[in-house]
Amino acid sequence: MDCLFCKIIAGEIPSTKVYEDEQVYAFRDINPMAPVHVLIIPKLHLASANEITPENAAVVAHIFQVIPQIAAAEGLTGGYRVITNCGPDACQSVRHLHFHLLGGCQMSEKMV
Ligand code: AMP
Repeated sequence: MDCLFCKIIAGEIPSTKVYEDEQVYAFRDINPMAPVHVLIIPKLHLASANEITPENAAVVAHIFQVIPQIAAAEGLTGGYRVITNCGPDACQSVRHLHFHLLGGCQMSEKMV
């Protein structure tokens, strides 16, 4: 499968890993939008939030258990924002489900 994030998980494309377990891989975004900008992805290839089903939703729940651990490790004591872009209207550019973890600064009230 020609998927950038599957290649990152496989180690075929370099990344700066911040967390990994059997189900999840997390790494620094190459074009950070905040002082801390981590991408958290399931190792299972799901193209977007549209592909979350009752059968695979446990991995998403697991990601949301891991996010506070990563946020704490990154020192995000003041809070953080989690975003997933789904589809062209949201400007999703990589078709592998991912959650942006953003923090380390005061964010705008605009958008979300
Ligand atoms: P999205 O626009 O929501 O699909 O987010 C995709 C994200 O992947 C963007 O924030 C990119 O900066 C990031 N990205 C693309 N290629 C890489 C890469 N090789 N390593 C780390 N982050 C990447």
